[in-house]
Amino acid sequence: MKRQDWRNPRKANGMDAEQNPLFDGADLAKATSDPAARAEALRREIEHHSYQYYALDAPTISDAAFDSLMRELREIEAAHPELVTASSPTQRVGGYVGEQFAPVVHERRMYSLDNAMDLDELDEWMERTAEACGGALPPLCCELKIDGSSIALTYEDGVLVRAATRGDGTTGEDVTVNMRTVRDVPLRLRDEARAAIAPGVETLELRGEVYMPKKSFEALNAAAEEEGRAPFANPRNAAAGSLRQKDPAVTKMRDLSTFMYAIADDAALEVEGQWELLQWRRKAGFHVNPDVRLCTTAEEVRGFCRECLDRRESLPYEIDGVVVKVNDFARQRAMGFTARAPRWAIAFKFPPEEKTTLLRDITVQVGRTGALTPVAELTPVVVAGSTVARATLHNLDEVHRKDVRVGDTVIVRKAGDVIPEVLGPVLSLRSPEARIWEMPSVCPSCGSPVVRDPGEVAFRCISIDCPAQALERLLHWASRGALDIDGMGEEIVSRLVESGRVADVADYYSLSEEELASLDMGRVKADGEPVRLGHTVAKKLVAAIEASKGRTFARVLFGLGIRHVGKTTAEAIAAAYPSMDALSAAGEDELAGIYGVGPKVAHGMWLFFRTPDNTSVIERLRAAGVTMADEAVAVGEEVPQVLAGLTFVLTGTLAHSGMTRDEAGARLKAMGAKVSGSVSKKTSFVVAGENAGSKYDKAVALDVPVLDEAQLLNLLETGEVPREI
Ligand code: AMP
Repeated sequence: MKRQDWRNPRKANGMDAEQNPLFDGADLAKATSDPAARAEALRREIEHHSYQYYALDAPTISDAAFDSLMRELREIEAAHPELVTASSPTQRVGGYVGEQFAPVVHERRMYSLDNAMDLDELDEWMERTAEACGGALPPLCCELKIDGSSIALTYEDGVLVRAATRGDGTTGEDVTVNMRTVRDVPLRLRDEARAAIAPGVETLELRGEVYMPKKSFEALNAAAEEEGRAPFANPRNAAAGSLRQKDPAVTKMRDLSTFMYAIADDAALEVEGQWELLQWRRKAGFHVNPDVRLCTTAEEVRGFCRECLDRRESLPYEIDGVVVKVNDFARQRAMGFTARAPRWAIAFKFPPEEKTTLLRDITVQVGRTGALTPVAELTPVVVAGSTVARATLHNLDEVHRKDVRVGDTVIVRKAGDVIPEVLGPVLSLRSPEARIWEMPSVCPSCGSPVVRDPGEVAFRCISIDCPAQALERLLHWASRGALDIDGMGEEIVSRLVESGRVADVADYYSLSEEELASLDMGRVKADGEPVRLGHTVAKKLVAAIEASKGRTFARVLFGLGIRHVGKTTAEAIAAAYPSMDALSAAGEDELAGIYGVGPKVAHGMWLFFRTPDNTSVIERLRAAGVTMADEAVAVGEEVPQVLAGLTFVLTGTLAHSGMTRDEAGARLKAMGAKVSGSVSKKTSFVVAGENAGSKYDKAVALDVPVLDEAQLLNLLETGEVPREI
C-alpha cells in the first residue's frame, strides 16, 4: 500500500505548510534531521489531530495520514527507546475526555488495536502469533472492523446500569442516558443467557461499537445542509457526535446501532473463546455482526480479508478493516497486552479510496428553503467503485477553509464511502489561472438579492417567488417520505412550474387529467409537434394525487417543508399536536416543550403559521381534502389495542415531553393498557420519569422492567413494546 509522505508537505492531502504546525518554517529542517525533534513535532501534531478527531468530531486529515504519523513516531521510538515519554501518544489510546459528561474510570482498560496496513503486515503478525503459540497458528476469529465509536455497557444483575465511551482508554464519558435511546441495546439480558455467567458474578461489562448506518448518515447530512449546519465528515464522527449530545432525544433521532463483540473480563463468563462469546451475546439479546469466520490457516484469514474488502461497498454500514483475534481466551491471556493494544489481535486496515481530478467549476444549487449550496463540478472520476462528477462543497466557509479554487486539481474521497467529498487542492499542481470562488450576490434562479442569516453559515435567497425554491418545495411535497405522489418527478414538476400552472403544493390538487395530459414536455416529435404528457401518465398521476390526500398528518407536516422540521421531528410534533388547528394555535413556548423540539424549530414553526402565504396554502389544502388531523388520535377512535393485557405504573416527572402522568396514562389506556397506582409482581412495566420514587425501587426489587421516558414515548408513538421484556 502506498503511504502518504508526510516529510513532503506538498503531498500531504493537499494541505500546505501553513496549515500544518508540523512544518513550521525553520523547524522543518531540524525536525527531519534530528530524531528527538522529529518525535516531539510528531507528538504535537498527533495530539492536535487527536483533539480534532475525538473532542471536536471534526478531523482535518484523513485516517490514513493520521496512521502514517503514528507509525512514523512508533518507528522513531522503536529505533530510539530513550525518546519514549510516558505521555507519548504511542503509550495511550487516542481519545479525549470531555467535560459535559461525568467521567467513568474503566475498571479494565479499553485498549486500541494495532494495525496491519497490508496483507504482508498481516502475515508478519500471524507468524509472530504462531511463534508465541508454540509454532502452530491457533484458530483465529475474524470480524469486521466496524467504523464507529467504542462503547462499554455495564449490566448489574442483568440490567443495564451504565454506558461509557472509551475516552483515553482509562477514563471515558458516561453516556448512559443517550445509549439507552439506542434501540438495539438490550436494557436487560435475556434469561437464556444467564446460565453461562460465572458463579458469584453480578456485574458484566460488555463492549462493542456504536455506529451510524450509511443511510442515516446521508439523511443527517442532507438535513444539516438544508438547515445550514456543518455536516459530519463521516459516519464515525456522526456516531460519536450523536452519542455525546446533551439532549438524549437528539441521540434517539440519530438512528444509531451497535455491534457488540467483547467482554471486559472473560472470566466472568463460562465461555472458552471469542467465537463462543459471540454466540452467547446473540443469546443475551445483543446485536452481533453476522460476518464472522473462525479460520485455522493464514490463507483463510487472507481470503476473509479480501472478501470483506470486496463486499465493503454493499454493506449498509461503514467498515474500515477486519479484526483478527486469537480465538482462545486462555491463549489471549498468555499473550497479553502492550501499553496500547492486545498482542492477540490485529486490525487489517483497508486502504482509503482517494483520487485526484479537476475542479472544473463551482455552481450553486438553490434548496427549498432558499439555502444556496456550492457544488463542485468535477471531471468524472471513479472512486470506491462509482463515478463522481459532482460533490457538495456545503457552504462558502467550507470552500474558503479548504482553499479550493476553480481550475484546481483536487483530491476526492467518498466520505464514509457514501458521499463524495472534496478533501482539498493539490497545491503543487495549482495553475496561476485558478480562480478564487465567491458566492454570487444574487440568486442564480430568480436574480433576487442573496442574504446571510446572522450566526448561520448558509446564504439564502429570500424571495418567495423564486422558481428554484418552488420547484424544490413541490418535489419535496411529492417525495416518498412526504405525501408520496408516485410519478410526480422532476421533469413533470419543472414543466408544471414553467407553464405557470403550479406554483405551490396546493395547486397539485386542482390539476385535471385533461390539463396534465396536454402538458407540453418542452420537446418536439419528428413531425415538429410538441411532446405532451398523454392520458396514460396523466390518469396515473391524478390517482396518485388523490391517494396522497389520505397520508398521515405527520407526513403532511413534513411535506410542508417548514424550516428545521425533518421527518422525525414532524412525527414528534404530530404525536403531541395531532391536528393542524391545535398546532397552528400553539404558542412558541408550548412548541418548544415538545419532546425533541428545540427553540429554533419551535420558532420556525410558529413563524410558519403566522405567514399569510403559508396559511392560505394550508386552507386550500384543507379545502382539497388533504389530511389535517390524525383522526384516530384526535377523536380517540380506532387506536389499535396493542397494549391490551399489559399493566403500567407511572412514577416520577416526565420532564422531556412535559406530559403529566395522567396524560401519559390516558394515552396508554387508549392503546388498551391498564394503568395502576401500585407496583406488584403482576405489573408489566414501571415508567420512571425524573426523580422517580419508591415505586421505582419496588420495581427493581420485584424485577419488573422499568422504562424511561424516551422508551415510553417510543412506545406511544410506535405501539412497540421494548424488546427483551
Ligand atoms: P483504532 O480506533 O483504529 O485504534 O481501532 C481500534 C478500535 O476498533 C477499537 O477500539 C474498537 O472500537 C474498534 N472496533 C471495531 N470493530 C471491532 C471489532 N470487531 N473488534 C475489535 N475492535 C473493533
